Amino acid sequence: MVSSVAFLIVGILISTVSYYLIEFKGQTGFSFFFYIGLVLIAFSLVKGFLLRKKSQGREVHGRGALYCPKCGARLHVHDKFCPGCGKKK
Ligand SMILES: [Zn+2]
Repeated sequence: MVSSVAFLIVGILISTVSYYLIEFKGQTGFSFFFYIGLVLIAFSLVKGFLLRKKSQGREVHGRGALYCPKCGARLHVHDKFCPGCGKKK
């Protein structure tokens, strides 16, 4: 999560600085850096999204607890059927 925030900040900095150079200094060669900045921003957003998704999955496994999607009863990892409603896992 920290690294994706760093990518986001660097991406915004690069695209802002190169946009300034292109618009106000006429340095059209910096349009390449402007796009690199945009790619970094997009990459950091995708990475942050994936990391958050991954950590949510890990949280369920880490506690070793599962819950029945039908009745919400707590299930053990080795349970084949829900003790509350009998739904097959
Ligand atoms: Zn159940």
